[in-house]
Amino acid sequence: MPVLVMKFGGTSVATLDRIGRAAKRVAVEVSKGYDVIVIVSAMSGKTNELVGWVNETSPFYDAREYDAVVSSGENVTAGLMALTLQEMEVPARSWQGWQVPLLTTSAHGAARIEDIPPANIMQKFGEGMRVAVVAGFQGISPEGRITTLGRGGSDTTAVAFAAAFEAERCDIYTDVDGVYTTDPRVCAKARKLDRIAFEEMLELASLGAKVLQTRSVELAMRYNVKLRVLSSFEEPSDEAGTLVCGEDQIMESNIVSGVAFSREEAKVTLVTIADQPGIAAAIFGTLAEAGVNVDMIVQNVSETDYQGHEGRVTDMTFSCPTDQLKRAEKALEAARDAGRLKFDQLWAETDVAKVSVVGIGMRSHAGVAAKMFETLATENINIKVIATSEIKISVLIERKYLELAVQALHDAFELERA
Ligand code: ASP
Ligand code: MG
Repeated sequence: MPVLVMKFGGTSVATLDRIGRAAKRVAVEVSKGYDVIVIVSAMSGKTNELVGWVNETSPFYDAREYDAVVSSGENVTAGLMALTLQEMEVPARSWQGWQVPLLTTSAHGAARIEDIPPANIMQKFGEGMRVAVVAGFQGISPEGRITTLGRGGSDTTAVAFAAAFEAERCDIYTDVDGVYTTDPRVCAKARKLDRIAFEEMLELASLGAKVLQTRSVELAMRYNVKLRVLSSFEEPSDEAGTLVCGEDQIMESNIVSGVAFSREEAKVTLVTIADQPGIAAAIFGTLAEAGVNVDMIVQNVSETDYQGHEGRVTDMTFSCPTDQLKRAEKALEAARDAGRLKFDQLWAETDVAKVSVVGIGMRSHAGVAAKMFETLATENINIKVIATSEIKISVLIERKYLELAVQALHDAFELERA
């Protein structure tokens, strides 16, 4: 029988009543003839509570015990979901990660999935079980200890199961009804997308559209898993939600599919650094060691020799999350004091935001950048830094213009129209 993976996030299993509603959706798919693998998150708020308990008990905790504690939320929902289905006369059984087994690396708290041998669950399907309810977010290390996959990891569990069982589709039930052209709270004209390509979703996911864990989209792209994001609070229909799929399954792609943004950006410029081999490596090596997530990087063309310095000099600008700025400054200044880096000044700006337009159609259409810059110019918004990739153009702007920029770009690229 064809296999379907259905994943229910924390808000979709927050109460017994909601578990009941989710179970009804599962039963409908079973009645259509699917063998269903249900992946569940912990009840909403539960994982945060467990993480809090761990921190309170042991500030420098043993990561293996962190995983032992925080993985438990999913065990509860898996058992409850199996019981609920059994009460509805649907043959169901719960599985913890180690029972499947879902094999991972030993990177506790951020483990990566190595393999999911399907034999155990397939055997049960063969014996008449119709639903395997699997605790998301968790697995087992080569040492035989429980691991977790990082926050939001149940999405990745779901996609990995869909790949391992060659599922027809992987439905991700959440509290939003799909992926939007931009955040509806910022732009009232935001429209739900029927389909979006993996690459676009990856850009939107990593740019702060928090619908899916980024790793789950990477995995879906690698194994070509058809992913559907939909709300568990809406009436089911075939058109519900957003399908995240391969480019080949999108008839006529939009040139621009969405406008993504992130509010909490900081911009740092190192003024007057030597223009010679090894300098960028020293700067970004220092930042990497300090655990700073650098995003955009711009190095100027060097023109002149500068007094007090040997040879040519240039400036380097980069952006990072606002809450990592202090760490970045400290690391760079420490490196300068230790003589490992040389720069005249460090300029930091914290009131910046990043706005990006994303779309696979950009590959084959010229003029997107020009239109984006024109639109910002018309609104009198100054661009501080520009970065591009094949399917994305990002700018840093003053934060107070963020909403205006998103709305203007949404209008300019006519995203309210399908
Ligand atoms: N319960 C875990 C978390 O809150 C995993 C998940 O729900 O995806 O991060
Ligand atoms: Mg989630």
